Amino acid sequence: MNTSFALKLSRSAALGSVIFFCALPGAQADRLADNLAAMEAQSPINITTNNTTFVKDLDPLLFTLNSDTQLKVINNGSPNEFATAARANVVDPGAGSVTIGPDTYRLSQFHFHTPAEHLENGYKFPMEMHLVFSDAKDNLLVVGRWVEEGAFNEALNPIFSNLPHSVTDTLTVDHFNLNALIPDNLNSFRYDGSLTTPPFSEGVKWVDLAEPLEMSAAQINAYSSLFPDGDSREVQDLNGRPIFTDVPGFATVVPEPETYAMLLAGLCLISVIARRRLVNPAFMNSAA
Ligand SMILES: [Zn+2]
Repeated sequence: MNTSFALKLSRSAALGSVIFFCALPGAQADRLADNLAAMEAQSPINITTNNTTFVKDLDPLLFTLNSDTQLKVINNGSPNEFATAARANVVDPGAGSVTIGPDTYRLSQFHFHTPAEHLENGYKFPMEMHLVFSDAKDNLLVVGRWVEEGAFNEALNPIFSNLPHSVTDTLTVDHFNLNALIPDNLNSFRYDGSLTTPPFSEGVKWVDLAEPLEMSAAQINAYSSLFPDGDSREVQDLNGRPIFTDVPGFATVVPEPETYAMLLAGLCLISVIARRRLVNPAFMNSAA
């Protein structure tokens, strides 16, 4: 795969195109294995009271989401080493964005995993939603949200009552309110990680919202029955990466005021390193 072709693939993937690694040739599979062996900032992770640091003034999450947009829901097929899961592509590229500090990211798609990929103090929720955003330079940001069993979710029902059962099915949802995916309380956990599906590219910013999304048992079952063996990746080593949170009372580590500046400086440094980190363009096709 030459570089220009890979870059085109990367950009089209960021826009939500349907490109999958259903069957990588042997050489690519070997290269993926080699890359993985050298990677130390992988996702998902177990977020605990002991590995998170409380920061009161994290940059606010400013979501701009269309309340009446069209989705194309697809099923990528049964998960395996080189495949991903069902997802909803946002047809209008301007339908959703999130701004964090100086950076604005555009929503390309959202999808679900069962069971959850990130753990909260070792607890595994039945599902997890990932909203995949990218900025103008194709830097990826994923907003994750756990799904817990609870009330019937009316907003998501057009998707979960008609989930595509095969890779040839596409479900069109004409009027979807993206705001229904995001809670009022935007407290979160933030760290730098990777895609959780091949090619597991790093340099992905993660924002895991603390407030779970409620769905009924029947809705959760509608999804998990499509993937009886699950479609989630196991937790990865943290390798000393910091996790910052503004969830009151969650983190054991609460820094003294004078260390805030050091922490925030460290966060900026990590961000710079992540951006400069060499990422093979061929490894940028993503579903998170
Ligand atoms: Zn995902």
